[in-house]
Amino acid sequence: MEQKDYRPMWKELGLNLEGHDQLLAVLGKAYKDIYLSQENRPKGMQYLDFVISEAHGLRIEELMETKKKGNKVIGTFCVYVPEELILAVGGTCVGLCAGAEIGIDEAEKVLPRNTCALIKSFMGFKLAGLCPYIQASDLVVGETTCDGKKKAYEILNDYKETYVMEIPQMKTERDRALWRGEVVQFKEKVEEIAGRKITPENLRQGIKTANDKRRALQRLSTLRKAIPSPISGLDALLVNQIAFYDDPLRFTKSIQALCDELEDRVKNGVGVVKNRTPRILMSGSPMAVPNWKIPFIVETSGAIVVAEESCAGERSTRDLVKEDGKTLDDMIEAIVDRYMKIDCACFTPNEERIGHIRDLAKEFKADGVIHYNIQFCTPYSMEAYKVEKALQQKGIPTLKIESDYGMEDAGQLKTRIEAFLEMVRG
Ligand code: SF4
Ligand code: SF4
Repeated sequence: MEQKDYRPMWKELGLNLEGHDQLLAVLGKAYKDIYLSQENRPKGMQYLDFVISEAHGLRIEELMETKKKGNKVIGTFCVYVPEELILAVGGTCVGLCAGAEIGIDEAEKVLPRNTCALIKSFMGFKLAGLCPYIQASDLVVGETTCDGKKKAYEILNDYKETYVMEIPQMKTERDRALWRGEVVQFKEKVEEIAGRKITPENLRQGIKTANDKRRALQRLSTLRKAIPSPISGLDALLVNQIAFYDDPLRFTKSIQALCDELEDRVKNGVGVVKNRTPRILMSGSPMAVPNWKIPFIVETSGAIVVAEESCAGERSTRDLVKEDGKTLDDMIEAIVDRYMKIDCACFTPNEERIGHIRDLAKEFKADGVIHYNIQFCTPYSMEAYKVEKALQQKGIPTLKIESDYGMEDAGQLKTRIEAFLEMVRG
């Protein structure tokens, strides 16, 4: 089938066409080398291949169509932003975190070099005119999670209106009250942008849509507990990453269909690897598209990733919003409660996260944990010490890795990961 020419749309969105062509070429090659080279992939992954191939094409066209009908597109950088409120007004929530190095030169003109790659990447994508999602967004929502992000949003605001939600740093009653105030204020902002009121009816639907998406991802996660796993860690990560961009209803349906296929695989003892392949739990900083480096190295070194303790994984899908609320107030309380459970490393103390990592390692029968943090990410790199200590006490082998989006350290990382897997195999 002939590829549609999206260049007029990209031009209208103000993208830098030359830089954008380069980005698509790099992405296309990386996807082919990393994803399409895998063997024995489930057929259901063809949907995800299609979504990726049209991430800057058809999906953006859909966003432009919905905007023409008066609906709003809201870009976010963090799983703290309640998608339910955006869905309630007929809006679309899109994740703006980026996982590519391209654009970093532009970012370093306004940010210190020793800033985490995720921040440099989203800033670079905006400054270099590479991201159609940020261009299509009617509002961008930041949050005060880590220091790097909150100061970067002040700069981003010079280029695109950025609304910032204050995230508490602790989980006391006072913090919950602060967060409740933030959720209510965000609700008002969403209503203002959309020109529509949030009602119990539309919010109930928004909660259901977001929960259904999480339920599909939870089902996928549960299927990965099987030995051998019916899907690679790379493919499962891709599903979690695409959850931030795709149409939620279509995505949920496609992932449920993928899970039906995986269920059959599990029943028939079919896996993507052999039974005795070492099972790895990845834990730490989130991996945004196309940051596939570490799972790719792990899975081409003879192991399989069976779960991700990150925001592109368990952390954003584990908890649902309670669906039994009758009034708008009940539903807001349920949203506040659900989001207060997120155990990002920006919280202190953050014992829940340590407990979750231990539980996941056990439930998924992980032979080892790889703790990954993006270079210069203070919250996750500091917390790695406590994670490692807690896992050591349980006799779970742990490898701490710090990296950025570049490929310069790929050889060295492979050597370390192979040595770790050798140790895990005993
Ligand atoms: S790691 Fe923390 S700051 Fe990053 S997306 Fe997750 S909750 Fe937000
Ligand atoms: S990876 Fe770490 S430093 Fe980077 S934005 Fe997330 S929490 Fe902040």
